[in-house]
Amino acid sequence: MSKFSRRRLLQTASAAIAAPTASALGQSASVITGRKFRAWVSRGTGTGRTKLEDVTLRPIGGRQIVVRTEGTNLCYSNTTTVLGLPGMFAGPLTRMAIIDGHGGVGVVEAIGPDVRRVQVGDRVCVSGTPQCGNCYQCLRGRADMCQFLGRQGPNDLVPIADMRDGTPVYASSHIGGLAELMVTFEEWVVPVFTKAAAVDLAMALSCVSVAGLGASTSQVLASIAPGATAAIVGCGPLGLSAVQGARIAGASRIIAIDPIKARRDVALKIGATDALDPNAEGDRLVAKVRAMTSTPNNRLWSGGRDAGGLLGGAGADFVIEGAGADRAKPRAEAGPDPTGVLPLRQAYEMCAPGGHVITTSLPSGNISLSAVFFSIGGRTHHAGQAGGANPMRDIPRFVAMLDARQYDAKSLATRVVPLDRMLEAYEEVLYRTTVTAIMTA
Ligand SMILES: [Zn+2]
Ligand SMILES: [Zn+2]
Repeated sequence: MSKFSRRRLLQTASAAIAAPTASALGQSASVITGRKFRAWVSRGTGTGRTKLEDVTLRPIGGRQIVVRTEGTNLCYSNTTTVLGLPGMFAGPLTRMAIIDGHGGVGVVEAIGPDVRRVQVGDRVCVSGTPQCGNCYQCLRGRADMCQFLGRQGPNDLVPIADMRDGTPVYASSHIGGLAELMVTFEEWVVPVFTKAAAVDLAMALSCVSVAGLGASTSQVLASIAPGATAAIVGCGPLGLSAVQGARIAGASRIIAIDPIKARRDVALKIGATDALDPNAEGDRLVAKVRAMTSTPNNRLWSGGRDAGGLLGGAGADFVIEGAGADRAKPRAEAGPDPTGVLPLRQAYEMCAPGGHVITTSLPSGNISLSAVFFSIGGRTHHAGQAGGANPMRDIPRFVAMLDARQYDAKSLATRVVPLDRMLEAYEEVLYRTTVTAIMTA
């Protein structure tokens, strides 16, 4: 028998490698309790349901992490719950005191004893989408659909702080970004090793930016090929991140579509080659995109794309849709359909046969499409959370894009406010008078 055994070799090698880093298998807990912090706490219904409160941190344990918030994006999808608008989801959650805000960036202040992913002092993204690594979806490469994301009902949330009168306070989405401290779980946190400014980092790693960059560059849902044509339907912070992702991926033509002129202007500044106003184009919008993407020629037997229709070749190779429904009538230019269904349908129709449609928005109602178009038209539809991004794999890449100045965060963060001015900035987000807003804490 050889005096070299595989097992002995591995033991020797791992001892040599692991000796200086024995803590890699675990780390001692760093638990802080009783700390006071300011938080926007929502409770009840109607306007005025969200108030700035002084709360007291509860002890943490297990896989919990306390993050000192540097910045968080004021996501449009939370406007109804934060501002207490009509149509707000009513139910048991409205009777609980909850810190809203599903994402942010900051610095780890304390960890529970079972945390391995991050250490105290790490800068982290608290991702809008978790990645547990163990669920059915994570195991199949679809961490954007991680099943932990759905575990945020009234019985799933745990109290993380107390109000002065003893009322327990919970963190929405296990995150609670609208506060000086976020108390979350390991699965929601991604360490980021960067010196980027807090506002830039909060913008680049917001739920919507991750979704836009994910849809355009994560290659989970679809891979934009260099030289391909792309259309981006809806240019809020998600669509404007997708515009940048399409540029970074090397698309040759990037058509940005949005009713708001200020957003089309930003799109042109950060990488779109063309910008279209869906109100001005009306029923001609789809035909216009098809005409603009009839490249490199329109000769049938010369590799070109002919006029379109079911089997024609015209249309964008990749369409990323990020329009969604209006939560209130915009004070900026309103789009042609407040439900968001029309832009969703147009996104499908402007895609080339053989092309890919990636949808990311929150529309309302039902969609109807030409059945034969849908059945054999050759378009592939991809749906997912976070544009298909896998947080632990993709967020560090998005940080690299920011650090390398490939991703322009400043052009998207058109409003930046301190914590105590969160509500006024959220109104601007609601009425679409800013691209988005970043709250610093
Ligand atoms: Zn969001
Ligand atoms: Zn999972």
